[in-house]
Amino acid sequence: MAFMMDQIASTPPGRAGRAIVIGGSIAGLLAARVLADFFEEIVIVEADEPPEGAQPRNKVPQGHHSHVLLERGQNILESMFPGMIQELIRNGSIVTDFTRDLEWFHFGEWKQRFPSGIQGVQQTRPFLEQHIRGRVALIPQVSVQYRSRVTGMILSDDRSRVQGVKVRSESSQHEEEILADLVVDAGGAGSHTLKWLGAEQDTSEVVPIELFYATRYYTTDWVDRGWTNLMISARLPESPYAGVVLPFENQIIGVTLGGYLREPPRTEADFEQIARMLPQPHIYDFIQRATPVSEMKIYRIPSQSRKRKNVLSKIPARFIMIGDSYCRFDPLYGQGMSVAAMEAELLGAELGRLSIGDSIDAAIRSYWAQLPKLTQDPWDMALIEAYRHPGIKGTRPIGTGVKQWFTRRIYKASAHDPSVYLRLVQVMNLKRPSSSFFQPSLLWKLFR
Ligand SMILES: Cc1cc2nc3c(=O)[nH]c(=O)nc-3n(C[C@H](O)[C@H](O)[C@H](O)COP(=O)(O)OP(=O)(O)OC[C@H]3O[C@@H](n4cnc5c(N)ncnc54)[C@H](O)[C@@H]3O)c2cc1C
Repeated sequence: MAFMMDQIASTPPGRAGRAIVIGGSIAGLLAARVLADFFEEIVIVEADEPPEGAQPRNKVPQGHHSHVLLERGQNILESMFPGMIQELIRNGSIVTDFTRDLEWFHFGEWKQRFPSGIQGVQQTRPFLEQHIRGRVALIPQVSVQYRSRVTGMILSDDRSRVQGVKVRSESSQHEEEILADLVVDAGGAGSHTLKWLGAEQDTSEVVPIELFYATRYYTTDWVDRGWTNLMISARLPESPYAGVVLPFENQIIGVTLGGYLREPPRTEADFEQIARMLPQPHIYDFIQRATPVSEMKIYRIPSQSRKRKNVLSKIPARFIMIGDSYCRFDPLYGQGMSVAAMEAELLGAELGRLSIGDSIDAAIRSYWAQLPKLTQDPWDMALIEAYRHPGIKGTRPIGTGVKQWFTRRIYKASAHDPSVYLRLVQVMNLKRPSSSFFQPSLLWKLFR
């Protein structure tokens, strides 16, 4: 794999200090890339083994499941690591056009297909992480301490400021302390940092979506099947199952089935049975004609969850969260990695606003203050649909019914009207805000 040495970030004069990143997964690696522009030293503390190639890691079990990288995420990766998208494609990622190459059954109708220019770059999650890791490995200020678990935080005497982390490595009996000017929690959805900081209570918004994921990989010589990607969406409450077929590197094709408030399949025969229960037979037909190359893997996503705005008033200075530790989405919308990239980009922008000699506290506060807005559209996109199911608990925010009525109009119109579909796809790819539906020409199409 070729990496571009000339793109390594350098430390601007006047910037100094050490940042610690808890977790060396997608969010942690992207945070480290951004911090390298501002800190002299970045230490990623990662509990897992040093990864080998593009295999799913033990501590990132979702790596077994199909992941999509939205166009916004691709663009940010490319800006952080110039040449990366071409490098992925050269090494085997599959390029698709969202609307031309996807056969999509959604809200009871098939979408029309046409070229949109919205590009998909498809690869398995471990393959993507491997490429990001490879680029981060070239940044001289960044080091990774594998097989090391952060077990607690070091606080100032008055508990107003995080000063570092406690780390236990597999090879040592002792707990080591690493001091830092900034601690970034990229420890994923299971992160314990708020508990360690005594700030856990009333700081999380948790919506129990009770979703399962079941994925199996296949190969096929059925090349004239008429589509590259295939998606059958859930329609709640009546159709709780969804399915997606996506090709990835090395000629493997992932078939992922999901279901809300349903038990996951226990056997591969159950998996096929669920494919058969989808409102259209296409995924089941594909499975019948394809050859499995993996066993089935299951993942349960109990909730979509995000830290509340009040978290900021409860946590000490010099600490931030990024990626799934801050907000974990319903994965069927494919947003987690792209939102992590947006958060890393925001962090870089806020640190970049500082003048030499400024304290980083203002940048950190501003980062936290913008996270709720940054995550609001992806948060709503999944929950507006999930809340159609009476079995999904949680207080519906005011206006949910109106939003559901509005999105239903969008979904229906997008099956027939290319301009509505194109806008929907731009919003789904986080390229435009949901407010961009409120344009007179689009509203006219939705309500005529
Ligand atoms: C089934 C499923 C499907 C998904 N599909 C998509 C998709 O299609 N598109 C998309 O963009 N996103 C998807 N996501 C979300 C995506 O996987 C995450 O958003 C993305 O991996 C970023 O996660 P992260 O880096 O924040 O955390 P993780 O990937 O969970 O990584 C956390 C890391 O922190 C380490 N760690 C944790 N605690 C400690 C500690 N105390 N000390 C040291 N290290 C620690 C772990 O070992 C791990 O490496 C999906 C998620 C799931 C569950």
